[in-house]
Order: sequence, then structure tokens, then C-alpha cells
Amino acid sequence: MTEEIRLKLQATGLTDAQIEEKVQAKVQELSGLISAEGALHIIANEVGVTASEPEKMTIKSIEAGAMDINFDAKVLDIYEKRTFKRKDGTGTVQTLFIGDTSGKIRFVCWDTATAMVSTVQVGDTIRVSGAYAKDGRGNVEVHCGARANIERNPEGVSIDIPVSVIERIDIKDAMPGDSKVEFLASIVQFYDTRFFDQCPECRKRVTDGNCEVHGTVEPAVSYVTNVVLDDGTGTMRAVFWKSQTNQLCGKSEEEMVSLREGSFEDVRLSLLGEQVVIVGVVKENSMFNRNELVVNRVQRAEPTTE
Ligand SMILES: [Zn+2]
Repeated sequence: MTEEIRLKLQATGLTDAQIEEKVQAKVQELSGLISAEGALHIIANEVGVTASEPEKMTIKSIEAGAMDINFDAKVLDIYEKRTFKRKDGTGTVQTLFIGDTSGKIRFVCWDTATAMVSTVQVGDTIRVSGAYAKDGRGNVEVHCGARANIERNPEGVSIDIPVSVIERIDIKDAMPGDSKVEFLASIVQFYDTRFFDQCPECRKRVTDGNCEVHGTVEPAVSYVTNVVLDDGTGTMRAVFWKSQTNQLCGKSEEEMVSLREGSFEDVRLSLLGEQVVIVGVVKENSMFNRNELVVNRVQRAEPTTE
């Protein structure tokens, strides 16, 4: 970009030496508080020369492995912010779901980038620069690290896609691919919660303290719970990952971990027959040839006063 500005300044009739002189004067004028590159931008502004905007991608065109990508998007969903232990301290990660008119994608912010989305709300537009893309569980994801910048509601940007509304459906009508669907159903079976160790960074399973991507890590504990739901129109198995299990059982992570060696009998009995409102994504389990609900959030149904 710097080179582009130099060429454009030269096109206005300035020589290289004159540009350099102006840059030095500007740096001095501002008491050395800016870089030569910064000065160059100011001078360009003063004479009406602008650099072209960095090339913008559409969501659909983003491929795993792409670096330094720039795009605008609309925020469609915001998930829970997590903190985790790293060898050198604490990490933070915040995942959003975003889209434009070409497609939708998971948007993962790490550490300093999480602060840039702390005030972002569903329906906002964001302008992202310096992000990268990688494969995450079979789908392309956009990640924002220390080099990324995220601007909330930039001027003049509007992305005309609907923020999807959650729709309540019957279990008999559930189709693989349904996302943002809600069910009102009773828990008719509750299997044990299964615990396992996972990498705090990439959430892959850890064996003998080793992540296949991150090497030796201090594993974080995770768990998964399977239940069977029945809403009177049909039954469906539902999968609750860690935070959803906590929501379902009304327990903190510490309380869940303390039950790891103990018995879930009390929890199990308290949930059997319980009516819940549950939001998730319907997936096909081809091994068992059935639909499963991967739960995003769950709450106990309000008891009726009738
Ligand atoms: Zn890992």
C-alpha cells in the first residue's frame, strides 16, 4: 500500500526526493510520534491521494488456509465466551456466526480480538481485516488473532440478509440440516454423562496429555450427555456438550466434575419426565440411520399454572 501511495504521489508531479523531504518534515512536525509510513499517509491525504481499499472477499470465496483476509459481514449469532489455561497464561475465545449475501461462516475470535466483539450484537455489521481461515471440524472457519481488526457497524455498509428467527417445530418434522429450530419436549431417557480430556486450544481429544496439533497440553475436562426427547409426535436423541450439559443439569462445571467419579442417579431421576425447551441443529447420524439434535441451548419449560 505504501508503494501504491508513493506512485500516486509521483503522478501528481512530486519527485522521490520531494516526497522524502515532506515525509521527514511531517515526522518532525509531529515530534516523531508517527512512523514514516504514517507520515506518508497524512501527506497523501493532504494532497487528495487515497490508497485503494484492501480487496474484500465474500464469505463464500473464503477457503481454508487463506491469510490476511478482509470482508464485511452481518452478525447472526453470538455464542458463549470461554476462557482456558495456556502454558503462558489464560486464553479467551469467543465464537460468532456471521454471514453475507453469499454464505454463512463460523467466526472465531482469540484473546485481544474478543475485546473487539464484546459490544457486538446480533444484527450488527462488522468490517474484518487481517483474519485467516482454517478448517474446523470439516467446515471452513474464519479466525481472528492478534493481527486482526474488527470494526463494529462501519459507516455505509448494509448487508441485506435476515437474521434468522428460531422456529418451533415438531420432532416428526425435523430434517437433517435444520438449524435454529426449537422443540418443546420431555426427557424420556437420560444416559450417563461421558467425560473426556480435550485440548484447551483446539478442543480435540487429548490422549496421554498429547494433542495431535498442539503437542503436550494441560488437558481441559469436557463431557457429553445423551438423552432421548419425546414431544408426542416422535422421539429424537439429543446431544449435550459441556455447557449445554451444565444448563440441562443446572450445575456448574465444578459440580459436574465432582460427579465424575460419583453417581448421576439423582441428576438422572430429577430430569426424567422433565419438559424442556431446546434449541439446536438437526444432524443425520448415518451410522445409526437416525436424526440427532446437537443442542445449542436448553431451558426447563415454564410450569403451567393451569
Ligand atoms: Zn490442540
